[in-house]
Amino acid sequence: MDFTPVRTQFPTLTQTFNGYPLCYLDTAATSHKPQRVLNAMTQFYLKNNANVHRAAHQLSSQATRQYEAVRDQVMDFIGAQHREEVIFTHGTTEAINMVAHGLTQYIDSGELILVDSLAHHANIVPWQVLAKQTGAIIKPIPLTKEGRLDLLAYDALLKQKPTIVALSHVSNALGILNPIETLVAKAKAVNAITLVDGAQAVAHMNINVQQIDCDFYAFSGHKMYGPTGVGILYGRLEILDSLNPLITGGEMIKSVTFEKTVYNTLPNRLEAGTPPIAEVIGLGEAIAFLNDIPAIEKIYHEKELLQYLQDQLKAIEGIILYGAHPDNIGAVAFNLHNEHHQDVGVLLDQQAIAIRCGHHCAMPLMQTLNIKGCCRASIGIYTNKQDIDCFMTALNNVITLLH
Ligand code: PLP
Repeated sequence: MDFTPVRTQFPTLTQTFNGYPLCYLDTAATSHKPQRVLNAMTQFYLKNNANVHRAAHQLSSQATRQYEAVRDQVMDFIGAQHREEVIFTHGTTEAINMVAHGLTQYIDSGELILVDSLAHHANIVPWQVLAKQTGAIIKPIPLTKEGRLDLLAYDALLKQKPTIVALSHVSNALGILNPIETLVAKAKAVNAITLVDGAQAVAHMNINVQQIDCDFYAFSGHKMYGPTGVGILYGRLEILDSLNPLITGGEMIKSVTFEKTVYNTLPNRLEAGTPPIAEVIGLGEAIAFLNDIPAIEKIYHEKELLQYLQDQLKAIEGIILYGAHPDNIGAVAFNLHNEHHQDVGVLLDQQAIAIRCGHHCAMPLMQTLNIKGCCRASIGIYTNKQDIDCFMTALNNVITLLH
């Protein structure tokens, strides 16, 4: 399939900086948005703007219909069983916080929470807060020398019967794809509650939460060609319904007196206040955009590009790659021997190459790798071979300049 018509739908990518065409290799931080997503949001504000679920007027019913239709779209997109299992949040971070806060009654002092060592801070800090509140203990699932999850060590930790197991589907820092179905099945075998952080997976592969069989799955709209400010928490109906709401107030109630409040049923129970309505509609359009591209073509296109990127980088003398593997998804992490990642990033930026440098919100992983940070180049559906060639030319210029 020719992906040029896909790329031309992204207006941001046609810009130049310092006389160079923009080469955007930072999709893992946030993706660009196709014109149709921008149009859907603008149309909402121009024509249908109203609050949802509240008023008797037509504008509000129209907005409510549009908003609730996206819930059905998300349900289909991730293979959930019930529409009530789809909760609109402001992003992955909020979704994981909702779960960690909501599970207080499930965990006691001394009980165990396992978190994988590839995790983003969004999948570490909320568990630390829960551990502090309850006296629970967090243990990291270690990595092998190659930077992948150590399955033998995981099996040993599972013998300690953890209450909660929090996993990354795909590592944002290294692009490593975890064998998520196996990891979840092993956790379930010891009756642990499982959460999967899918922020770096949803845009790049087909997700089926019933097949993964996790209790919770979290992701963000802005990493899958949708807007910022919206994300999804999927939860298996029964356990989702038992979460203590993190945020309370309007919309999430059935009745309120000064003596007593009765909470609403799902999904409203976990969607307090005015939701990000235009953003939800933008997310719906992003899903329609993704659904219009045959999944197999999308996966093959990105796989081929990532392999090309890995191979080009490997050929550079003095480069250190972290966790590079043919099965990785979306990102390559590297450092130039003896050079600070930030210097490399700034010098690339002068040539209009946008990559990410730093700890990638994965400080424990950086500690495990014994580095302060690294450079990360990440791709999306709109990336092409020319982007990678421009990046390699610019990187070679940086190497020449620094030596
Ligand atoms: N988890 C992973 C793996 C991520 O890559 C990110 C963002 O980079 C997050 C969680 C947090 O997502 P958000 O900032 O959209 O809440």
